[in-house]
Amino acid sequence: MKVSIYSNDGESSSKVSRELYNAINKSKVLKLDSFNPEIVISVGGDGTLLSAFHHYGDLISKIRFVGIHTGHLGFYTDWRDSEVSQLINSLEHDNGQSVSYPLLDIQVDYSDNGESDQLFALNESTLKKSNGTMVAKMYIKDQLFENFRGDGLCISTPTGSTAYNKSFGGAIISPKFDAIQIAEMASINNRVFRTLGSPVIIPPTQWVTLVPSASKYNILTCDQLMVLDRPIKSISYRISDKRIYFAKYRHTNFWQRVSNSFIGDKTDD
Ligand code: NAD
Repeated sequence: MKVSIYSNDGESSSKVSRELYNAINKSKVLKLDSFNPEIVISVGGDGTLLSAFHHYGDLISKIRFVGIHTGHLGFYTDWRDSEVSQLINSLEHDNGQSVSYPLLDIQVDYSDNGESDQLFALNESTLKKSNGTMVAKMYIKDQLFENFRGDGLCISTPTGSTAYNKSFGGAIISPKFDAIQIAEMASINNRVFRTLGSPVIIPPTQWVTLVPSASKYNILTCDQLMVLDRPIKSISYRISDKRIYFAKYRHTNFWQRVSNSFIGDKTDD
């Protein structure tokens, strides 16, 4: 089985990567291949897994990811840095088991020379402005829903619902749902300007389109990546027909992970 190691530059991640290289080189079943891997092992945190996802974007339907965390437990990283030999053993006995999660499909139309781009996000995409109020018309299924004014809008996947979305009061959505969520960032609401003021969750048969007012200060993000300095005509969001796959060697219950990450110790009193 062809395996790639994708690590951040941290000292502990580099140490884990060296252990992985040595173990894979000794293995009769595993082979290192960073160009055409079947399994990508990300070593670092959630940010490293997000970078690995974008790095291997063209191969996304063919590969499965495994995350080792070298800091605190992450949302995409199930394995501890002390568990390299258990992970190698699981890889050597792999029988293709996987779990998959929905991705966000982002279609951007630029207003200069009519070009467009298709992007994919694992966590979320945001539209915001570096200077002043972000103004955009928001359409659901091509029907005008509201005229938004505020800091910006965050459109997230179910697995991204625990990330940036949560900081804006968005709901946590189980990744068993194919849904996208639109959360407001500091909307302006008064007698003149009005937005819904609540997060909105839409099903896979529907889509959301944002048409921002022309401004050179608009910023479009896609996970940790940014599109700057390009005039945006419109952006349409929907659930992608592609998914991300993780090698499922152990079961980590989603709600247990949410509770452990955000609530911590629980006493029965
Ligand atoms: P990073 O790696 O420092 O990540 C920032 C934090 O977000 C980390 O604590 C990470 O564990 C956590 N995180 C990432 N994905 C998560 C998920 N799906 N569920 C729960 N927590 C998650 O920074 P980065 O490399 O720039 O990562 C980009 C991500 O960071 C973005 O996709 C965004 O979701 C998140 N972010 C959050 C905030 C915020 O909550 N205010 C601000 C900026 C970015």
